[in-house]
Amino acid sequence: MTILEINDLRTEFDTERGTVKAVNGVDLSIESGEIVGLVGESGSGKTVLAESILRSVEEPGEIVGGEILFNGESLLDYSDAQMREIRGSAISIIFQDPMNSLNPTIRIGEQIAETIRLHQDVGESVTLPAEMKRKILGAAKHSESWQRAIEMLESVQIPEPSTRAFDFPNQFSGGMRQRAMIAMALSCEPDLLIADEPTTALDVTVQAQILEELERLKDAFDTSILLITHDLAVISEICHEVNVMYAGEIVERARTEELFTNPQHPYTQNLLKCLPTADSRDSLHSIPGNVPDLIDIDFACQFAPRCPEAKDECFDIDPDFRQVGEDDHIAACLRRGPQERQL
Ligand code: SF4
Repeated sequence: MTILEINDLRTEFDTERGTVKAVNGVDLSIESGEIVGLVGESGSGKTVLAESILRSVEEPGEIVGGEILFNGESLLDYSDAQMREIRGSAISIIFQDPMNSLNPTIRIGEQIAETIRLHQDVGESVTLPAEMKRKILGAAKHSESWQRAIEMLESVQIPEPSTRAFDFPNQFSGGMRQRAMIAMALSCEPDLLIADEPTTALDVTVQAQILEELERLKDAFDTSILLITHDLAVISEICHEVNVMYAGEIVERARTEELFTNPQHPYTQNLLKCLPTADSRDSLHSIPGNVPDLIDIDFACQFAPRCPEAKDECFDIDPDFRQVGEDDHIAACLRRGPQERQL
């Protein structure tokens, strides 16, 4: 079953310098129980795509075209009130730095319990006289959601969760804070979790633990995951499918193993060369140039100015998607696929 289907999505920012096409005709879909990766350098539009799914793009940003279907329903037709309901309950998000999302003055357990109370009717079924119900139900809701918060901390393997629930965020390590954020995000058992660079601020060992945790929790809570990262190594750990994003567009899509064994788009090939190996420690590869700023781009293939294989036509002819490998492996490059041009 398809949880999320995005078709030809376009999100733009009107600025004094011109129109920034941050998401430029993106198609993407996530099946139930899948972890789908979205990878690209900073500035490629990954986070704006996540914000577009949640309809939380800040002004002057605006979704100007396309559709976002969540469980078959168009999120772009939902009212702001309906979207507030969806965020945090049916779709949750976690970010790179949990300190930006956690309130430093509120105990961890209380922050999770508050999320649960906001989105679930914990204790609502209690039948009591009105005034007594108001008082007792409030307490019942509080104790039930607090208990549930402790269970959630336990589920993300925080040691002694009933004690640590009383801690403030600064009493947790970076890895524990990210686990707490995952606990909060999953506390309402969302259908979709968007994880935006969830391991970037963590050291390699903790990073691996968090990825394992996400994979385990996906099964435990029956949640699909969109994993956003600049790091292909993170994708290789847990994703079923990879979407490579460059300058607001998806340029290659494949099942994970296929992408790593048979990368086709020159951008993906260069990203893979940037991965450290035992032989490359002293001289890491980097892609020359920078991601363009996406204002009034006037060439057809956005990667052309940085592409080692670019020819004149790459600046004039839009590269459409072509089948380039197994299992719906597609790439948008004029020099790939059965219709390959001899440029
Ligand atoms: S279309 Fe041309 S410039 Fe773009 S990635 Fe392919 S070879 Fe490179």
